[in-house]
Amino acid sequence: DGFLTHWAAERPEWAALSQDDHHFTYGQLEERTAKIVGMLLGLGLKKGDRIAWIGKNSDLYFALFYGAARIGIVMVPVGWRLAPAEWAYIAKDTGARVLFAGQGFEAGVQALARDIDGVDRVIAEEEARALIDASARIAFEPAGPDDAVLQLYTSGTTGNPKGAVLSNRNLFALRKNAGEEEHAYSKWEDDEVVLIAMPCAHIGGTGLGIMAMASGLPALVQAEFSPDSVFDAIEKGGATRLFIVPAALQMMVNHPRCRSVDYSRLKYILYGAAPIPLELLRQCMDVFSAEFIQVYGMTETTGTICMLPPEDHDPNGNTRMRSAGKPLPGVELRVVDGAGNDVPVGEVGEIWTRSSNNMIGYWNLPDATKGTVADGGWIKTGDAGYLDEDGYMYIHDRVKDMIITGGENVYPAEVESAIYGHPDILEVAVIGVPDAKWGESVKAVCVPKPGAQIDPESVIGWARERIAGFKVPRSVDIIAALPRNASGKILRKDLRAPYWAGFERQVN
Ligand code: ATP
Ligand code: MG
Repeated sequence: DGFLTHWAAERPEWAALSQDDHHFTYGQLEERTAKIVGMLLGLGLKKGDRIAWIGKNSDLYFALFYGAARIGIVMVPVGWRLAPAEWAYIAKDTGARVLFAGQGFEAGVQALARDIDGVDRVIAEEEARALIDASARIAFEPAGPDDAVLQLYTSGTTGNPKGAVLSNRNLFALRKNAGEEEHAYSKWEDDEVVLIAMPCAHIGGTGLGIMAMASGLPALVQAEFSPDSVFDAIEKGGATRLFIVPAALQMMVNHPRCRSVDYSRLKYILYGAAPIPLELLRQCMDVFSAEFIQVYGMTETTGTICMLPPEDHDPNGNTRMRSAGKPLPGVELRVVDGAGNDVPVGEVGEIWTRSSNNMIGYWNLPDATKGTVADGGWIKTGDAGYLDEDGYMYIHDRVKDMIITGGENVYPAEVESAIYGHPDILEVAVIGVPDAKWGESVKAVCVPKPGAQIDPESVIGWARERIAGFKVPRSVDIIAALPRNASGKILRKDLRAPYWAGFERQVN
């Protein structure tokens, strides 16, 4: 409630939210969300109830979310790229009584609602717009700081997606922790236009929308990511700041248009959500004239907890470029061993974090919540990494993906990053496969560039010149495309599965 009413009073005529032909100023958005409150209460919903959005990104989704948040009705955005069985899993899990269907998803959501119990109503996009217009502003009790307002599912990279329940306080922290320091991540100028190109079911979509709204700036919503639509938003839409995942950056640098776009308005590219190969980052810095900011975080921490600012992006061999940066103000980080004890600076362990960004808990999963939230409120990220003497965090990879070969620990992202620049390779994933002698051995699964042939020996030779011998892949497989989830993350568990059939993989 706070940010929106603040900006509606402060700058009612400023652009707040737009998509295609829909444009709302802060004044209009406040008015619209007040009507949405009226609509939701009119549907018989009350604080603590869940509503779900199944569809692409839409200004309607953001308005519904902001409206619902004002009274503590919890929005659950469901990734439209998921299979209908996965929608059903999430819809059932949340117990949402009202499902909103974005354009093109009406039939699918109707079918879904027939299959699960407890859904009272499916409301399609056009109907929702009409209902809002017909609703009136009514008096209501605003949600408090600890009320849940958003339930975001994790990307499902390591297992089933889990519903992270986030409160108003968590969302405020997103802006507050950014602090008012003089750096690019937190200091947003009044001439900025924020582009939401990542899916709203991911913190990189919804979280960026919240950041824009909290700063009183215009958010430009794109239904879905494509390199062309992002280039258009930069050239014609005046986008100054965007968040994007490495897989999407890779599509953009491989796009024929990338060098002819006018980037003069673009200021910042924020990237993160998965490890970025160093070579890809260098290419991006060469092609897109913007400043780069890396962000590290997770759904459970309402997104960003660490940030690598533009000044640490020195493409000429600066090791800082491999870092995910320092924690934001108000964020505590620890690196611990298997027993939960802090390890010395420079030593790899599991990253734990504590801040007011930390979620309330997982929805309906008390055991998983206990497994993730340690005593004292620390979230165990499941990521391996180390801190350097200056407090910079280096993310190695998921603890579960670490390969133990002959007693040595190998982190796939480091090997992938080393192989990435190979001239015949478009993309690569590294996994551990069973090995009678070494326990596990390192395997590189490579996708060739169009028209190229990959010679496994040359990949091994390429890696040997760049990383220590025990990290070098023992074998190389060629594949047409890597399995990725909707956030563009490599699904190593799926890649591993066929090699591990009949074996038990030990995970520490
Ligand atoms: P699940 O928890 O369901 O397996 P997920 O962890 O991929 O899926 P998200 O919450 O979307 O779901 O992603 C958080 C994870 O993304 C982090 O734990 C980390 O592994 C990875 N990540 C985020 N930012 C970065 C970054 N800058 N560098 C490397 N990895 C990152
Ligand atoms: Mg996770």
